Amino acid sequence: MADKNTRREDLPAKQNLLNMLPSEAEELLRGFAVRHGEKPFRGSQVVRHLWQNPAESFASMTDLSVAFRNLLEEHFTIPRLALATRQTSSDGTEKFLFRLDDGEFIETVAIPEGTRMTLCISSQAGCALQCAFCATGAMGFTRNLQMFEIAGQVREMKLLSPEKPITNVVFMGMGEPLMNWRAVDPTLTVLNSAAGLGIGARHITVSTVGVLPGIVALGERPEQFRLAISIHAPNDELRQSLMPPNTKYPLASVIEAAKVFERRVTFEYVMLGGINDGGEQATQLAELARECGAFVNLIPLHPGGAGDFTPSSPQQIQWFARRLRAQRVEVAVRKSRGMDIAAACGQLRVERQRRRAPVGPDEDGNVQVA
Ligand code: SAH
Repeated sequence: MADKNTRREDLPAKQNLLNMLPSEAEELLRGFAVRHGEKPFRGSQVVRHLWQNPAESFASMTDLSVAFRNLLEEHFTIPRLALATRQTSSDGTEKFLFRLDDGEFIETVAIPEGTRMTLCISSQAGCALQCAFCATGAMGFTRNLQMFEIAGQVREMKLLSPEKPITNVVFMGMGEPLMNWRAVDPTLTVLNSAAGLGIGARHITVSTVGVLPGIVALGERPEQFRLAISIHAPNDELRQSLMPPNTKYPLASVIEAAKVFERRVTFEYVMLGGINDGGEQATQLAELARECGAFVNLIPLHPGGAGDFTPSSPQQIQWFARRLRAQRVEVAVRKSRGMDIAAACGQLRVERQRRRAPVGPDEDGNVQVA
């Protein structure tokens, strides 16, 4: 305990137990328990309350003595993400907006489908990439999320809806996960490990515009994590106009990376009416998909993203899918979910900003957006 002459800033900072791997927390907490006259297994008990059977706070770890809970409180934190908004769609999709400590907002979407419950999580606050149709890109990039903020979205779901276990996780919320590999790498361990959230690696998908060093790093992980690549256009000219990161990572290099990735990749292809949904594009896309044995997911455009695009009609999407199948490519047409709650990438946060009282420019002429 600090004596009364110790200034607050001299105190060692509390350690965030959710921002380290479960194995690191275990080692730390077993040692901590022993130093405070407890059996080492008391430390392991705390670890189970981090992810497997999450506790809201140290106080609610009622299998530990009050004295030990108080000690934990003095030395460690297990921060919650503050729930700002929760919306439920008529199709059962739920959308969550979380407010982070620095006032940033991030989104998480829970999508039920039969026996599965897929959680779509964010890896960055905002996004630097500016894909023409994406609401997150339009808001710009603020910062990378830390591990506890990414894995914490799944933890929050266990706390908020314990009756609906998460079976699948996709990094398809806000941000580009492979531009935040430093945090996404250990997050994958927390999501997958038995001492963490215990979600099978094949049920965890990282989605990227094609950040090459990240694809290599993901491929080097021994677990069977899945890779999805947002292709959206089958030639450089069109892709360039829709996705600025194509300058740094042109299609040919992305396809090359997909080829050497040991496991099967999925191409994501958002259907933009009159832009990328024609016959020639189907043929070009089929060639690319065959080249690296990719599975193609056709995604109906969620209206309310960014830009002035028209969704391809359902008939056009089915026609495009048939063209791909005729060229020996496996295709699925993704169902659009959560239409009534604006569940596409970045939309809830944007909607919240629109709902606010109109904000005038400040003295520098900038309009505050978050
Ligand atoms: N940055 C990563 C992951 C986040 S976006 C990536 O680009 O893959 C997840 C997916 O949603 C991407 O395929 C993205 O292009 C797509 N997306 C963005 N806005 C959309 C919209 N309005 N309608 C449909 N899909 C959208």
